[in-house]
Amino acid sequence: MTQDTPQEAVLAIRSLSVVYVGRRSAAQAVTEVDLEVQNNEILGLVGESGCGKTTLAVAMLGLIEPPGKVIGGAVQIRTHDHSTQDILKVKPSLHRQLLWKEIAYIPQGSMSALNPVKRVREQLTDTLIEHGLKKNEALERARWALQVVSLDAAILERYPHELSGGMVQRVAIAGAISMQPPVLVADEPTTALDVVTQRSILQELVSIREKFGSAILLISHDMGVMAQIADRIAVMYAGRIVEIGSIHQVFASPLHPYTKKLINAIPNARGRESGERLIGLGGESPNIWRHPPGCRFHPRCEFAIERCSQQAPVFTSPNGSSGQRVACHLY
Ligand code: SF4
Repeated sequence: MTQDTPQEAVLAIRSLSVVYVGRRSAAQAVTEVDLEVQNNEILGLVGESGCGKTTLAVAMLGLIEPPGKVIGGAVQIRTHDHSTQDILKVKPSLHRQLLWKEIAYIPQGSMSALNPVKRVREQLTDTLIEHGLKKNEALERARWALQVVSLDAAILERYPHELSGGMVQRVAIAGAISMQPPVLVADEPTTALDVVTQRSILQELVSIREKFGSAILLISHDMGVMAQIADRIAVMYAGRIVEIGSIHQVFASPLHPYTKKLINAIPNARGRESGERLIGLGGESPNIWRHPPGCRFHPRCEFAIERCSQQAPVFTSPNGSSGQRVACHLY
């Protein structure tokens, strides 16, 4: 059974497992993840730093490098010509075409993702030329993409260090949308930005979804970011998806004890004003080299029962929670 069964998936991750190979053992970074992203939806993938979100993103794009290794699973994408391709199994030449044209990645820390010695012009046009556009077409497309993300075309002649953090992030988004892929993967797109810029970048993603019908897999450690723009949320803990549901379901009636902790840890305006203390997550963050047996959350879970340390919970849909699923022995 998959963890997620939407109507019209443009991207389907099936039982994806990724390890980091060490000298004597392998660390399980991502374990049997099933996720589907529907056309025109923003699916949030949330969890603490180190839970495997970025590894999942890089692996599903077929970009994981040693010591990382995909040990099982498939990543099916529905392309512009309505065929379905497994990103992890296509030939390298088709893989290069799928990236950017069918699925594009907005990496974490866009400043370091941009080449510091290349002008924005080259950063944007080189990939377009690689995908078959002529030089003048690529330049025109780059101008268009900058306009979409509310940047002036004069930016084309600037170097990354001449731009603010928000502008760099917009350039990265412009690059990602320049071939109008049906799927965008945005990895922590607002980290290290001030609150006002964060909000405008999130609005930019929403407007891209509205203009182009793009599906967006939005990765963040921040439940507050998810609350602002996601349609559905998948919660990841220690390499596994532990809960998935609509934004309303997950915030109004979270099921997994970890999801509840994440929500309780969101800073809110009322709390700041009243001096109310935030509730921390408690316990140690997961260590991918030493996952505990059974439910990986059990050492931090206040509801743990004996079975939790012995048997991994399977995904289930508790009565009355249409579309909301959870992996926890309490249900
Ligand atoms: Fe807690 Fe057990 Fe549920 Fe895991 S399975 S979240 S340890 S109650």
